[in-house]
Amino acid sequence: MKRRKFINRSILAGAGITFSPSILNATNPLNSLSPMTKSSFPITIATWNFANASLKAGEMMAQGATALDAVEQGVMVEEANLKNTTVGKGGAPDREGNVTLDACIMAPDGNAGSVVYLKNNTHAVSVARKVMEETPHVMLAGEGADQFAREMGFEKEDLLTEDSERAYKEWLKKKEYKPIINIENHDTIGMLCIDQNGDIVSACTTSGLSYKMNGRVGDSPIIGSGLFLDNEVGGAVATGLGEAIMKNVSSFLVVELMRNGKSPQEACEIAIQRIIARSPDFKDFQAALIAINKKGEVGSYCIQKGFTYVKYQDGTNNNIPSKYYI
Ligand code: ASP
Repeated sequence: MKRRKFINRSILAGAGITFSPSILNATNPLNSLSPMTKSSFPITIATWNFANASLKAGEMMAQGATALDAVEQGVMVEEANLKNTTVGKGGAPDREGNVTLDACIMAPDGNAGSVVYLKNNTHAVSVARKVMEETPHVMLAGEGADQFAREMGFEKEDLLTEDSERAYKEWLKKKEYKPIINIENHDTIGMLCIDQNGDIVSACTTSGLSYKMNGRVGDSPIIGSGLFLDNEVGGAVATGLGEAIMKNVSSFLVVELMRNGKSPQEACEIAIQRIIARSPDFKDFQAALIAINKKGEVGSYCIQKGFTYVKYQDGTNNNIPSKYYI
């Protein structure tokens, strides 16, 4: 048994806490649904039009891969895409010129791993998966995350590309710090996968806001904010202004709303309305959520027009415009 699982089980058993499947099932209205009402699996949904990433994950699962392997490989497509200036290598740096990545991953058993302020590796999601599987922790940051990546055999890389450096030098002329809504229409990639067994897995990876303050961490690697799932209920991921999403713990909220009987669409709408109600400046930023429930129903909602998500099912990949508030 992996060390981490052993530690978790020992702690719970030591505290006299055990969970029977019937107790877990009692909280989930979706468990009473007959298999006939469920969608055909596998399904992948991902923020923005990250079609290649979604296709990769969907096709892997169609060939029998687990959602965990598929979600990792899926988001890795965008991490390696040098043209994408908001994820992985080639991501825009912070205002000091450092490219720093945030990523997390969550498994069907509720296990999770996360890295923040990772400076020298393209595949932040893979380092996050190692945190989940090889350590007793959930999150590693900065130098510690870098050190751990080396220990796990990830070679040191330079993440600043010539194009990103050129754009950064241009930015330095005015040094304007203002989040840009729907920046070039591709931001953080958050992905949810349901494999042929019906298990849900999620991952989120980003270089964060362009020209952010040194040390700034957004919602994307924060379990509950940028991503959350409960394999008994469903999952949600977020993109947009991380500060607003974190202050409202939006992905966790979506999953809890689905647990209480809301559809993924209703849950995303309520969670975005919550951000709007608590943010006087909501017209100046984007926040978007996508969600899937255990039946394979999906939903999406955002503040501003322009956000889309991509869905793979039955061998087809579709880019779907999200419903929006403004
Ligand atoms: N949510 C990300 C962050 O705040 C950025 C984004 O999705 O656009 O770092």
